[in-house]
Amino acid sequence: MEAPLGERLAAVRHRIEDAAARAGRDPATITTIVVTKFHPAQLIRDLHALGVRDFGESRHQEAQPKIAELADLGATWHFVGQVQGKKAKQVRSYADVVHSVDRESLADGLDGTDGADGSDRRLDVFIQLNLTDDPARGGVHPDGVAALAEHVLAKPGLRLLGLMAVAPLGVEPRGAFEAVRGMSERLLTIAPAASALSMGMSGDFEDAILEGATHLRIGTAITGNRPIQG
Ligand SMILES: *Cc1c(COP(=O)(O)O)cnc(C)c1O
Repeated sequence: MEAPLGERLAAVRHRIEDAAARAGRDPATITTIVVTKFHPAQLIRDLHALGVRDFGESRHQEAQPKIAELADLGATWHFVGQVQGKKAKQVRSYADVVHSVDRESLADGLDGTDGADGSDRRLDVFIQLNLTDDPARGGVHPDGVAALAEHVLAKPGLRLLGLMAVAPLGVEPRGAFEAVRGMSERLLTIAPAASALSMGMSGDFEDAILEGATHLRIGTAITGNRPIQG
């Protein structure tokens, strides 16, 4: 038997507090996003009742109807998956934060200042780094971060929060997160406000906290296993 949702959530919160204490950090400076992809809307309602306010989704076709159904919660919605260019306007319409900006054309699509969504709201975004050699993974190559950041900073409809990364499989995550922290320091020289770091998942969030993560994206450690896809 899996532990009930409230127990798993409490256990993860405890581990976050422990890691923050080890890092000499205030846990209140760390936002935990519960990634709920493939799970039904009811699980999000249950998590909301347990105090969760930040949720992550990664697939547009699933996120759009789910978030519409849950509009009454007033939650903060994070889009953490790859965004197809032609879906950018729609993702902008329901997401509060997009963690996966990895190319100029996507920044243009998310900008939304052509009046298409009828607002002058700034969408919060992270630039996603690709720490692998596989372009299919999503994310910009580290060499391209500065140019992409300049492009995002010039968009009146976007606000750059910082960098997002997924630790590659088969490497020690702490080293990967340390490298992201180094890139963040370089980013700050051109974007002094973009100090956030979206990194750390179920298997590696403690390492991410030790390297300065401000936004954790945690799925299965809290939700339990995802329902079988498709
Ligand atoms: C699914 C997902 C997560 C959460 O993964 P877990 O291993 O279940 O914690 C985090 N980030 C992204 C981009 C994801 O797609």
